[in-house]
Formats: sequence, C-alpha cells, structure tokens
Amino acid sequence: MLLRSCYGYDSFRGQQWDIINHTLDGGDSIVLMPTGGGKSMCYQIPGLMSDDGFAIVISPLLALMNDQIDALQQNGVPALGLNSEKSDNENRQTVDLLMQGKVKLLYISPEKLLNEIDRWSTAITDRICLFAVDEAHCISQWGHDFRPEYTQLGVLKQRYPHVPIMALTATADRITRDDIAQQLNIPQARLFISSFDRPNISLNVVQGSAGKVKFRQIVQFINLHRDESGIIYCLRRNDTEKMAADLTRLGIKAEPFHAGMPASEKQRVQRDFINDDLKVVCATIAFGMGIDKSNVRFVIHSNMPRNIESYYQEIGRAGRDGMPADALLFYNYGDMVTLQQFALQSGQAQVNMDKLRRMQQFAESGVCRRRILLNYFNERFDHDCKNCDVCDNPPERFDGTTLAQMALSAIKRTDEQAGMYMVTDILRGWRKAEVIDKGFDRLKTFGVGRDLSTPEWNAYLLQMLQLGLFDVAYNEGNHLKITEFGNEVLYGRRTIELNKFERRDFKTRERPEKPQATIITDDTPAMPADKKQFDRVLFEKLRDLRKALAQASHVPPYVIFSDKSLTAMATEKPTSQAEFGIIYGVGEAKCQKYWRPFTAAIRDYLSK
Ligand code: ADP
Ligand code: ZN
Repeated sequence: MLLRSCYGYDSFRGQQWDIINHTLDGGDSIVLMPTGGGKSMCYQIPGLMSDDGFAIVISPLLALMNDQIDALQQNGVPALGLNSEKSDNENRQTVDLLMQGKVKLLYISPEKLLNEIDRWSTAITDRICLFAVDEAHCISQWGHDFRPEYTQLGVLKQRYPHVPIMALTATADRITRDDIAQQLNIPQARLFISSFDRPNISLNVVQGSAGKVKFRQIVQFINLHRDESGIIYCLRRNDTEKMAADLTRLGIKAEPFHAGMPASEKQRVQRDFINDDLKVVCATIAFGMGIDKSNVRFVIHSNMPRNIESYYQEIGRAGRDGMPADALLFYNYGDMVTLQQFALQSGQAQVNMDKLRRMQQFAESGVCRRRILLNYFNERFDHDCKNCDVCDNPPERFDGTTLAQMALSAIKRTDEQAGMYMVTDILRGWRKAEVIDKGFDRLKTFGVGRDLSTPEWNAYLLQMLQLGLFDVAYNEGNHLKITEFGNEVLYGRRTIELNKFERRDFKTRERPEKPQATIITDDTPAMPADKKQFDRVLFEKLRDLRKALAQASHVPPYVIFSDKSLTAMATEKPTSQAEFGIIYGVGEAKCQKYWRPFTAAIRDYLSK
C-alpha cells in the first residue's frame, strides 16, 4: 500500500482516509487541521493514486513548497514546482513532463497558476485530478494573513467544475471558514475538522519572571535541550538581537530573525536553522510561517503573545514529528502593560483587548492549560491532559489576605501614585532612586514584604490584579487604583485566596529519557527486550550520519529522516535491510537509499 511503500507509515491519522476518499469520489472539501496534523498527505495521496493524472497544490510560500518537494522526491515521488524563481527553461521542462504524464504533484503559487493554466493544452488540463489550496485562510480578509492573489482562485471551480477542490488551513474560526467556501465557489464542500490537540507538546507557563531571572530560566531550559532546535519568540526586534547576543556569549549558538533584517540575512538564518547548523533562533512573529522543520523541540515565548491564536500557531511549530516537545511561556506584568497599549491603539481595540484577556486567563489558569486552549477553539476536552505544568503541579492555595493587605496598604500610602513595579520595590524595601525621590522609603509599609522575593511579589500582585483588588490606570502612568473590593479586603471585611508561587527551576525538573515503546510499530517483529532500549549515544551517532548525508545531497536533515524515525532506529537497532525497511518513516525509496549507511553505523556501534 502507498502509505507504507511511500511514506513508511502504518496507518492513516484521524480523518486522513475519509478526506482522501471523499476527494477520490470527486467531492470538494474544507480541511481544518492544526499545524503538524498531517494535511499534506490528504492531497498528496489522491495525486499519487491517479493513473495518469496529477494534483495541483497551490501554496503561498516558496520555501514551504521547496521543502515539500524535497521531501517527496526523497520518498521517490515525482513532484515538481513551477515558480518565478526558476529559469524559463526549467519551467518549460516541467511543463513537458506534465505533458508526458510524468508528474504526480505540481506545486505552484496562485498567481503563477492563473498565468500558466490558460496556456496549457487540454492534454494537460484534462489530467488535473485535484486542486489543493494550502493555507486557504489567505483568501479571507478576516483571516490573519490575507493575500489578494488568493482571491482570484474562485475561477478554478467555474472553469473546471469537475475537478475537486480541497482547501486546507490551520485557522479554525467560522467566519474565515465560510469565506473560504464562498470565495472558492465550493458551497457544497464537506467540512473536515480535526482535533486541534497536540498532545506531544507540553505546555508550561512561568509567571512573574522578568529581566535576569527570566534569562537564567531560559538558559536552564535550553540546557535541557542541548543539541536540539528551538525558537524563542520576543515581542520586539531589539529583544531578539539582545537575546541572541546574550545566549551566544554563554556558548549557545543563537541568531536573531525579524522583519527589519535584509532578505538575504533572513534566508541565511532560516536555512541554517533548517539544516541544523543553528540551534536557536530568537525571532519576532515573522519567523516560522514558511518552515516545515519537523524536529523543532522547543518554543519559548519570552514575551506573552497577543492572543491565543498566535500562541497556538507559534507553539505548533514544535514537535511536528509527533515526538515530545516543550512550550514555555513567560508572563509578567510589564508585557501585559505593553500588550494592552498595543491593543488599545489598534484599529479593533475592543476585539483585541478581549483576545488579550483570554490569553491572560490562559497564563494565569489554575486548571489544566490544554483544557483552556481546546475550549477556546470550541473543542470539548473533558479531562486533564497530564502534560502541562498545572497538571504536573496543581497549584497550592493559601489564605492570601495578609499579603493582599500589605500590598493594598502600600498602594494607599502612595496616594495611588505608583505602578506595580514601584509597589514591589516599596514592599521589598528597595532604596531605588525613584523610590527615594518620591519619599516612598519613609512610608510605614516600606520593606514589610521583605520576606518574599521580587518574582514572588510580582506574581502575587498579578493575581491580586486579576482578582480585582485594584485596577491599572492606563491613562495615568499605569498607577494602581484600589477598587471597592480591594478596600473591603484592606479593612478586613473580606478574605482572598492565592495560588502559591512555585519557583521554576529547570535544572530540577525531571526529564524522562527520550520516548520509548510508543514509537514501535505494530508489525515490528518481536525482539529480545534488552535490544529494544532506546540508546541515546546511538541516536547521536545516527543524527551525525543524517547530517552528513543531508549535506551531501543538499537537503535539510529532517527530510532524510525525522527525529521520530531516528529514535525508532536507536531503539530497534535494525542491522539488516529487512529490519530497516519496517522502521517508522522508512518507505521503499528511503530503504533502498539509506539502509546500507544506517545499518552499517548501527552494526559498527553494536560491535564496540
Ligand atoms: P501539516 O501540513 O498539517 O502541518 P504535515 O502534513 O507536514 O502537517 O505532517 C506533519 C508530520 O506528520 C509529518 O512529519 C508527516 O510525515 C507526519 N504524518 C502525517 N500523516 C501521518 C500518518 N498517517 N502517520 C504517521 N505520520 C504522519
Ligand atoms: Zn493539563
């Protein structure tokens, strides 16, 4: 079967097979699947199954197209791209191959397609078996990535009514979805919605850390992922540069990536990252759209994103190979203030403020974070995930009334003329110039909260803000103003509970050895139990081999084999072609091409 021979997988995931069948029956479809969910197979297989036809894949991003073409060619699939970066000659050759029926998948940008298709003879157009519109949300003005070129695609259904259309996107909201159907003229399209859960990504939030504390935590976290690829998202361009420089100083190779850099520089960073020559990219949200790298093992948000959609899309770039990956979000008051200002200044202040508030609720949640996320995407998820920091460490509650009274009394004594950080300094008894300037060091409350650290106070003040003990006057230097409820707590008429602050120390966090039994495929022949242990050292060796082979054939390492396949090899330790051929992700073409070097490396390793 195609799935095994071509891709080296044993079964379809979720609705993949239904979607493929629907397409083979000639039906139009809209496919909503999270990033990494396995969309590409849905349109590739109909192309591959067609006798003398081919599927057209419309994609907005050149880098993504090239990546997929590389991967398909590795699997022995005749896939080609038509684009403006190639020479006329190359493109003419591609059209010749189409004529001869030698192409199964043609990747093309929307504008190129609409230019080309009129020039093709019916010998070619009659063979089109599917139009797959990838990143289909680009067609909608309501989506977050509108591309005018996409709006022309409506003519496809008019001109080729018998060719099924498949629109694919990872953006789920209803307005965008309806717009896609309308603009593509496929009102009858069947909707396939997959779960947006990405269970292999562990979700973690650190509250209250800023500055040096935050940086130290980031370094600890990266050290847990030695030799693995990751992305650190920052809010501002300057932050990406500083972060990269600071990490590099500690011997962690990192580079910035943001929209202000020259295109050539951006391309270089992207290429180095894809080729595993660069482990850490410090980026603004501009990074990641066009890359399909499956072995990103962690995503850190050094600053909180503006909304849950962005957050989810960004963490979705981790663990696309299905192997464990970690998402870490830093959430502090300073970011909140900045983000609120952005939201208020934006065209749609109300909507953006609401979205930000939902993001904040996620960050402050005392219940399973995956529940909140999936609930946000209107998905029922009625159990704890056991793979987020809240599930791992349910917060301890305690009576926080005394702490709240200290804070409220400090605020009151400043005449409500201090911001959150200033209040922390007063409580901690820190003689900063600004504190002394204003005479706050003479307040009765100065230093009453010395027993708690700054991150602790920051985290508790955030919780108090969230509980409604005080407000932030955004129009008045962000000073804290006590509410009615705050006054009741201050004068002892009401009590409050807080979640106990946990210092996050990533050195102490337990990390299991890399995944074990789950990746072993069903039809793997039984082997002695001791042979089936995952071997980290062998894994590293195979990774080096993959790197060398990738360099030799000028493709990214993960195109040769995913981390998941390497893990399977380092567990199963195949030493013959037959054993190698049944490893996860090893199809016929790859088995032919690679069984010798990989089994040789494994034999060599085992004989030592
Ligand atoms: P998307 O385009 O939805 O972001 P991809 O199509 O790139 O996701 O798939 C993500 C990863 O999952 C790829 O590494 C792909 O090879 C793998 N994958 C897809 N379908 C299956 C399957 N049925 N079994 C195992 N792995 C799969
Ligand atoms: Zn959970």
